[in-house]
Amino acid sequence: MVAFSTRAIHNGEEPDFREGASGDVAVPIHLATTFARLKAGAPTAGYEYTRSLNPTRKALEEKLAALEGAKYGLAFSSGLAAASTLIISLLKTGDNVIGFDDLYGGTRRLLSNVFVNFGISTTYVDATVASNIGKAITPQSKLIWIETPTNPLLKIADIRAIAKIAKEHGLILVVDNTFLSPYFQKPLDLGADIVVYSTTKYIGGHSDVLGGSIILNNDDYYQKIAYNQNAVGAVASPFDSYLTIRGAKTLAVRMEQHQKNAFALAEFLQNSPKVKRVLYPGLKDHPGHDIAASQSTGFGGVLSFELEGTLDDAEALLSKLKLFSTAESLGGVESLIEIPAIMTHASVPKEVREQNGISDTLIRVSVGIEDTADLIDDFRQALN
Ligand SMILES: *Cc1c(COP(=O)(O)O)cnc(C)c1O
Repeated sequence: MVAFSTRAIHNGEEPDFREGASGDVAVPIHLATTFARLKAGAPTAGYEYTRSLNPTRKALEEKLAALEGAKYGLAFSSGLAAASTLIISLLKTGDNVIGFDDLYGGTRRLLSNVFVNFGISTTYVDATVASNIGKAITPQSKLIWIETPTNPLLKIADIRAIAKIAKEHGLILVVDNTFLSPYFQKPLDLGADIVVYSTTKYIGGHSDVLGGSIILNNDDYYQKIAYNQNAVGAVASPFDSYLTIRGAKTLAVRMEQHQKNAFALAEFLQNSPKVKRVLYPGLKDHPGHDIAASQSTGFGGVLSFELEGTLDDAEALLSKLKLFSTAESLGGVESLIEIPAIMTHASVPKEVREQNGISDTLIRVSVGIEDTADLIDDFRQALN
């Protein structure tokens, strides 16, 4: 198998040299919703209707599977569309999910406010200690859902240890790998059964396309999820598939620069008297550093820090930064900054937030791929 960056560029996009084809080096955007056949009983090259199979989406799915070194990839209209289709496909009424208590808010809302109405319950545990998962397992438990690192506290879960517990109890382990992308972390190689992504973040990488994916090797789970990808219909559109392919080609170089900038900013902030603490798994003093280093080849581009002072000070800092747009989301080429307490995590009750360490002056940064010195200079002037 060729290396990651080579697969990112070539897989799923072999030029078509068949009679009459044009040899495009970039996959075309196949907008047709239906495909004509020469004979009624014989779909042309397997294509019938775009919800079921579309050439541009197929190219994306092949590329995403190749990035993970996996057998199967499936592309959806958003990360949560992927999550919903996964749950519908593998769980039924009466089943229980064990989730990391620091899961992405939208995933938590989906499990706790939507699937609960269909009789699927979720138990949340602090998965930074793998044995907490073992303790939460009941006869109803079917699936474990983790993220690592988490958002915005960058907590680390030990994927290998949790995969071992999942195997022992016959549970399915799902890892949402959005934060590190397949460039830095490959959960299937660490024992996970299924990887999910919001490709809206690093894989798309330019804050201009929403998408999600499911990557796996298991034939049975694949058949069930692929059936529902068509049956439920939350598929990635041809245009969105094209944009995601375009983004994925540069994932390797972008992730390197995101990480370089995140390290530089983390170290700069650690040395500022106006900063109480910096959370970045790449820092040696991060509580999950050793586990992160053992299971991933990098630490990503997201960091959080706690500012000395009040919410007003935090807001003032954001308004003084010129290169960091105040916005939710992450993983794009541009630097973004946000205050979880009043933005992404505003719907979490204040007591719960504070108990979990999300204070009013906790600030999350999605460090972009701009010039490193420019980003540091911007923080220097804003902190002053
Ligand atoms: C954004 C995000 C999601 C949800 O993805 P959408 O594409 O917004 O539906 C899921 N998990 C994580 C970790 C995310 O950051």
